[in-house]
Amino acid sequence: MAERLATSESGEIQEIRTAVRQLCGRYGEDYWLALDRNNDYPTAFVRELTQSGFLTVLIPEEYGGAGLGVAEAAVVMEEVCRSGAHAGACHAQMYVMGSVLRHGNDEQKRRYLPKIASGELRLQSFGVTEPTTGTDTTSLKTVARRDGDDYVINGQKVWISRIQHSDLMVLLARTTPKEQVARKTEGLSAFIVDVKAAEGNGLEIRPIESMINHHSCELFFDELRIPRENLLGEEGAGFKVILDGMNAERVLIAAECVGDGRYFIDKATAYAKERIVFDRPIGQNQGVQFPIARCYAEVEAAALMVEKAARLFDAGEPCGAEANIAKMLASEASWRAGDVCMQTHGGFAFAKEYHIERKFRETRLYQIAPISTNLILSFIGEHVLGMPRSF
Ligand SMILES: Cc1cc2nc3c(=O)[nH]c(=O)nc-3n(C[C@H](O)[C@H](O)[C@H](O)COP(=O)(O)OP(=O)(O)OC[C@H]3O[C@@H](n4cnc5c(N)ncnc54)[C@H](O)[C@@H]3O)c2cc1C
Repeated sequence: MAERLATSESGEIQEIRTAVRQLCGRYGEDYWLALDRNNDYPTAFVRELTQSGFLTVLIPEEYGGAGLGVAEAAVVMEEVCRSGAHAGACHAQMYVMGSVLRHGNDEQKRRYLPKIASGELRLQSFGVTEPTTGTDTTSLKTVARRDGDDYVINGQKVWISRIQHSDLMVLLARTTPKEQVARKTEGLSAFIVDVKAAEGNGLEIRPIESMINHHSCELFFDELRIPRENLLGEEGAGFKVILDGMNAERVLIAAECVGDGRYFIDKATAYAKERIVFDRPIGQNQGVQFPIARCYAEVEAAALMVEKAARLFDAGEPCGAEANIAKMLASEASWRAGDVCMQTHGGFAFAKEYHIERKFRETRLYQIAPISTNLILSFIGEHVLGMPRSF
């Protein structure tokens, strides 16, 4: 392998990289290909990642986790993706947990976090997106009505991933109509939903057939009752609960894209060296070599922004701009690296046994979810550069 850029990583981060790489090595690409073919869930992989403590690195030690930061968690996700795995099957456990940690009351933290750390409870699901309002989150129409000691939920969600492989979901719903609040971000509330108790009792779950194996579903709420004690944070302040988790989500997903990008570059480089056409390695042609080299430069640059955003997050500093920029740059860099990897492999890129087409489909998601590129550009234009609001 070619000499890599010098690293300033701590010994601890390098140890995490090595250990996650070894764990992922036990689940080769054929494991992921078989799951993708059958739309199956990587239960064994997720269990091992949890029990080894890597999926729960962000949970404080007092609740049974490792008490590390987003910088370390990002390295876990990056290595998972770099191994050829699909981190989308399990990444939400890391950042959704953060909403409980930062906004849950003591009782909620004691009740849920140790069991999430041990793997007894899975918090893999995050219910925000709705079919009729999409990115316009504050216009969402799912409502939570107070009734005695319960909230009663009615409405609909779409693209809610992993819910069939999760015991808990953090749900965002409106508790005060948008017309009655001073700011549209007010009047939304977050709830912890016990998925197993809810299904069939006011919650209907319908899987969506989709381009990647992401286990996403439509949800229908019809008078679902959830106890008042499952309110997460203050009533009406749910947008903040969700937003806090979103910065961590963006950094972790950006790290996954860096992992995907490095995966594609490793594959493209190896193939460019070994594939002989016209009696020489295809990588001897600069038309093949330069696109790979450019992708390498782009992925490394994006990785620096991921590191910066993670550092700020862990220091408790504002990091909305950095987290968004990291996600945008890394998702575009990984997509371009995927495209170049496809091109380098010629026709063989289309053969499933080469695994590239699967990773190519998987990495495409991140320019759309959890937030699309246009919305990030709009955030930078308005909130960082102070240009006029467009919506
Ligand atoms: C596989 C998958 C898994 C997902 N998992 C989850 C999950 O677990 N939980 C969850 O809550 N959601 C989930 N989502 C939803 C995801 O977060 C949304 O799809 C994403 O935020 C975009 O919203 P939308 O699809 O409604 O697009 P829309 O809001 O309809 O936007 C469509 C396009 O128009 C552009 N656009 C919209 N408004 C503007 C504007 N004002 N200016 C410029 N461009 C604009 C957008 O950038 C986008 O490209 C998932 C989605 C997918 C595909």
